[in-house]
Amino acid sequence: MLIQTRQIYKNFGDLEVLSDINLEISQGEWVCIIGPSGSGKSTLLNILSLMDFPSSGEYFLEGVEVSKMNEEDKMKIRREKIGLIFQQFHLIPHLNALENVMLAQYYHSSIEEEDAMFMLKKVGLSHRYNHLPSQLSGGEQQRLCIARSLINNPSLLLADEPTGNLDEQNEKNILNLLCSLKDEGKSIVLITHNLELASYADRRLILNYGVLRDE
Ligand code: ADP
Ligand code: MG
Repeated sequence: MLIQTRQIYKNFGDLEVLSDINLEISQGEWVCIIGPSGSGKSTLLNILSLMDFPSSGEYFLEGVEVSKMNEEDKMKIRREKIGLIFQQFHLIPHLNALENVMLAQYYHSSIEEEDAMFMLKKVGLSHRYNHLPSQLSGGEQQRLCIARSLINNPSLLLADEPTGNLDEQNEKNILNLLCSLKDEGKSIVLITHNLELASYADRRLILNYGVLRDE
């Protein structure tokens, strides 16, 4: 089992945002989480990505309880195992496309320009390597983010509404990219409002007022 959560709860003050989350995701599986705005989707993804921690409950990643690890160990796991894709791209504005990918590489290990270029090629952006984020369209920026998330070869991709700001054509590009990553054996947890996108996943889960259930 890649991911297993046991009775995860998350409270912000009096507000219970996640309630008794028992999630199991296998290696290589693509799972979609659907749910109305404010239902706790991003909160759950933040916990899965170790950016946040549950108020109670356990989170096993590859069989290891990770939620109560110290920050340093969590950071190590984030860098080695997890790729993150957001709706807001969080690109560094004064670095070009290649440098944005290489920066992620730098934080992980050593810089290999060739590897960074390979990732840009994979997302169809190698010809734009020396452009700044502001010179790229929304869809191109998102593909750049995906290249960045892949540079450390994570086994788990976590994506929070990655097509939220994109038009239909760019949505399709991202969908194709996700499908090919799934074929490569990556595990994917995708949060989306887009039911068509969700239909390509192996499994769909619905989060409603912090309660997760099968479709
Ligand atoms: P979704 O991603 O499904 O739209 P979120 O997980 O972002 O929902 O938020 C779920 C609920 O938790 C919302 O009511 C939101 O206001 C609240 N919330 C999220 N983060 C915090 C926080 N850091 N402090 C207080 N409340 C929060
Ligand atoms: Mg959200």
